[in-house]
This record gives sequence, structure tokens and C-alpha cells, in this order.
Amino acid sequence: MSRFINEKFRSLVEYVPGEQPKDGEYLKLNTNESPYPPGPKTRAALRDQDLTKKLRLYSDPDSGELCRKLAETYGKGRTAAAAGQRTAGRPQAGLGPENIYVGNGSDEILNFIFMEFCEGGVLFPEISYGFYEVFADLYGVDFVKVPLREDFSIDPDDYAGCGRTIVIANPNAPTGRILCLDEIETILKTNPKNLVVIDEAYIDFGGESAMGLIGGYDNLLVVCTYSKSRSMAGARLGFAMGAKAVIDDLVKIKYATNPYNVNALTAAAGLAALHEPGYYRENCRQIQETRRWTTEALTDLGFRVVPSATNFIFVTTDRIGGSELYQGLKQRKILIRHFDIPAIRQYNRITIGTRRQMELLVETIDRMLGDADDGAGPGIAASPDGEEQL
Ligand SMILES: *Cc1c(COP(=O)(O)O)cnc(C)c1O
Repeated sequence: MSRFINEKFRSLVEYVPGEQPKDGEYLKLNTNESPYPPGPKTRAALRDQDLTKKLRLYSDPDSGELCRKLAETYGKGRTAAAAGQRTAGRPQAGLGPENIYVGNGSDEILNFIFMEFCEGGVLFPEISYGFYEVFADLYGVDFVKVPLREDFSIDPDDYAGCGRTIVIANPNAPTGRILCLDEIETILKTNPKNLVVIDEAYIDFGGESAMGLIGGYDNLLVVCTYSKSRSMAGARLGFAMGAKAVIDDLVKIKYATNPYNVNALTAAAGLAALHEPGYYRENCRQIQETRRWTTEALTDLGFRVVPSATNFIFVTTDRIGGSELYQGLKQRKILIRHFDIPAIRQYNRITIGTRRQMELLVETIDRMLGDADDGAGPGIAASPDGEEQL
């Protein structure tokens, strides 16, 4: 640390991203990236770009085309329509481009949320996305961490009328558990004076989005990302949907910090992805199927798997410690995510990859535990062909 850094940042503890190893090939099941490539239209859109123009000129600070297409894709009040609700003869309050903010990853949007909407303090689940606490610290926001139930689920009653900004990842990470829309609506209803942020990074893997509630609740802000279900973690693209006034506030901070927050190539890829929803939906379906298979296979090996609505599973077993499992797999070139937090130290979060990748994971764990049972101990066992796999 230099002697120039502001006093208030001296003790700031930063977010620690999952490892992106440079020392050789790993099977990466640690950061919830998609195992599938971006779709053909998405890739073609990048190939066909007029790079001279796209790189020479500034990007569109309003991300206008992308906002319009997102509004067209999501702005139809899907939830009420899907539930067959009548809206007393009035058309469902649809969302327009003015209800959408496009950001440099959803992390940027969460950053802004903690910067500008949390004056009265914030409430989030005790076990959740680690960045929430970092942002709260960064801005000196008073935060309360709400314990989860024994089974890692969120009790919506804990958030009723709390008088603070609420931030909930739904489905939650790293647990994978999900709240239903009725429960979210209860939180919205009992906190009309406070902003309720629903971080839907994993909603496409089997949950129902709260987007459809935006027309009815001006205190709801839904945050989404292209990083997980749309195979674009490296492009850095996220978006938020909410009442126009709240979106305007996000835009205000963007113009006060980084007007060209979404680069031109990312915007083009993000737009193209919206033209092939079927491709990404099929990938999500595949991941759900592989999630089921992996859950069964690990259960057979003596694991307890927390019910997941995401592209990862949260697992534990009495057969090996949480940290030992992580270390043992890392030595065998498979990365999973272990959090050194007392309540979940015996657990690991495992991203769902392709079926083949998960078969390799399960075989490797099976062999590792077999070796451990034989007294060889984790981490020093040789593979069947006799080579040390370090
Ligand atoms: C991955 C993740 C994010 C960050 O997404 P980016 O768009 O890549 O910044 C936000 N919230 C949760 C809960 C996540 O798991």
C-alpha cells in the first residue's frame, strides 16, 4: 500500500474472484461460467463488425439499441400473463427502454446500487454473493446480514418491513436455493418505502423472474447478467429493470463515473444473443438435466446436495472435509469453489458443466474417496495408470 491511499480505504477488504489459473489446463467448475460457447448468431455478429468504426468511435452511452431489444424481449409483463391473471381490461403495464439500464456486468450495477440507494442501511442474507459486503464496506453503508434457515433457505418474514434497502440474490449463491414470486411479493409489499433489489444472475436455470412484478411495484429493481446463462462472462454485460425513476438514478451515476460503460463489441454481441433465445434456452435445459444427473451421482457417493435452481450445486459429505475435497480435486486439475466461512466450511460449490465433464468429476471424486478409505489419504493417491497427477 502506498502512503497516498485515502485513510478510509486502508482497511478495505476486497472481493476475491474465483481462480482463473494460468498453470496449465484445469476443468473449471469454480466460477459458474457456461460450458457452452456463445450462440452462432452471437459469434457471427462479432465477426461481421466493422472494426474500424466500432473501435475508432466511442460506443453509444445510452446503449439504445440494446435497451430497446431488451424491452421488446422482456417487457411484456410475462408473469401476470403466464399466471393467467386478468388486469381489469387494462393492458399489462409493459416495460419500455426507459425501464432498462445496461451495465458493465451486473457487478457495476450492484456497485451503483450500494453507492446511491443505501443511505438508510441495507439488509442481505448472511450467506450470499460475497460482493454485497465488499460494496457496503466500500461506501460505509451500515449493513445487517440475515441468517438463513437451517436448510439454507431464506425466510421472507425476516425481511418484512425492515426499513432498509434489501438485496437478495434469487436464486441465492452459493446455496442455489430460490424464493417463489409470492414470497418476493410479500417482501415488496411490506417494504413500500424501501428499494428491493433482486439479483437474478441465475434465474434462467429454473426460476421464475420477478420482472413481471415491476409494473406493480415501483420499489423493485431486478438485476440480470449475460455472464452465466448466455456464455458471455468475458464480455461484461449486465442489465437492470425497474421503475423509470430508479433507472434514471442508475443512469445518473453512470454519467457521473463512466458514460461509455458498455463497449461497442459487447453491445453488438449482447444484441445478437437476444435474436437467438432458443439456443440459450436449450443450453439452460441441458444444464438442468446435467444438474439432476450430477445430484443423483453425488448422492450415491454419500453427498448431501442442497436443492438447486442454478447452474451450480452446493454439496457436503461426511466422507471428506470441505477444504480437503477442494484441495484434492485441485491436485487432480479440477477446480471447484470452497469458501472459508465457518457456517459453510464443510461445503463446496460446484458449477454444472457438460455431462462429460460431470462424469469426469464424479469418477475423480469416487476414486479419491476410495483411495482415502484405503488409507492413502487425500491428495497423494496415484491415478490408475500409476502417474502422479499433480
Ligand atoms: C456472477 C454473479 C454476479 C456478477 O455477474 P457479472 O454480470 O459477471 O458482473 C452478480 N450476482 C451474483 C449473485 C452472481 O453470482
